[in-house]
Amino acid sequence: MLQQTTVVAVVPYFERFMTRFPTVQQLAEAEESEVLKQWEGLGYYSRARNIHKAAQIVSSQLGGIFPSDVAGLQELPGIGRYTAGAIVSFAYDKRAPIVEANTLRLYARLLGYDGDPRSKEGQQVLWSFAEAVLPKTQPGRFNQALMELGASLCSPKLPDCEQCPVSGFCRAFRDQTQLEIPQLAKRAVITDVTEASIAVRRNNAYLLRRRTTGERWAGLWDFVRFELAAATTDDVPHIVESVHQRTGLKIDLGPQLAELKHGVTRYRITLKCFVADSVAGTLRDGEEWQWVKAAKFDDFALSVTGRKFAKLLAESLF
Ligand code: SF4
Repeated sequence: MLQQTTVVAVVPYFERFMTRFPTVQQLAEAEESEVLKQWEGLGYYSRARNIHKAAQIVSSQLGGIFPSDVAGLQELPGIGRYTAGAIVSFAYDKRAPIVEANTLRLYARLLGYDGDPRSKEGQQVLWSFAEAVLPKTQPGRFNQALMELGASLCSPKLPDCEQCPVSGFCRAFRDQTQLEIPQLAKRAVITDVTEASIAVRRNNAYLLRRRTTGERWAGLWDFVRFELAAATTDDVPHIVESVHQRTGLKIDLGPQLAELKHGVTRYRITLKCFVADSVAGTLRDGEEWQWVKAAKFDDFALSVTGRKFAKLLAESLF
């Protein structure tokens, strides 16, 4: 997660996670919903699911012993070449190369590599270089030092080449091409999406549905939620019909309570939040539903926007 967000954001999660699951055995035996609950708010939930699955494999198939080589680690779900190299070199101090965002930039500049560093050819060039420069002693320390050099002096926009201890070997510095190398990744096109989230209420409890495999935020709970057609001026008939199709319930839709904005991968989402009363019908089979009182929302792992909406409901008198 340190690749996606800041140390400050991750540390409290790490500490809570390690307190709740201090051994691989305890993590393996936990329910997935409990693992997701501890992870809630960090995003990238497939990582939590993969850590959980990996713990189950280590516990049940590997006698509780975590692999200490790159090939063995890459057999575990969610562990790719970089993560395997980082674990092997940092934790076991064994020779294993790593290329991540900071060393990618550093190596590309040292080599003066002006091709696309994310292409197949670029990856080959950089991984071969990472392997070639690895020392026999203290490879873990060496890898961490290079990552630190990439993150500090060899920064993307303002590399401090005058202070750099390896400027004498750096082709980009020699050619004064530091700011053109590495080639930048193409920016993803951002798409605007409008969605509706409906807190359907019956007997003072709200309807939650567990999101299924293949959906965004699989395994987390959410209010009834779906995309709205962008061109719709009056959402009400569409929402009433959509809730009926998804849940089997007929609703009396209340006014819009809130509008939340958030981003997920390449989508910029506007989420319109409504409360509705269930007035007829029975819940459709084939989904995991729960009627939950507002005071019990904390027992369920929700997405960030789901949690915001839940707090609004818990704090209001709707
Ligand atoms: S000399 Fe400059 S561009 Fe080259 S590695 Fe050092 S900081 Fe990066």
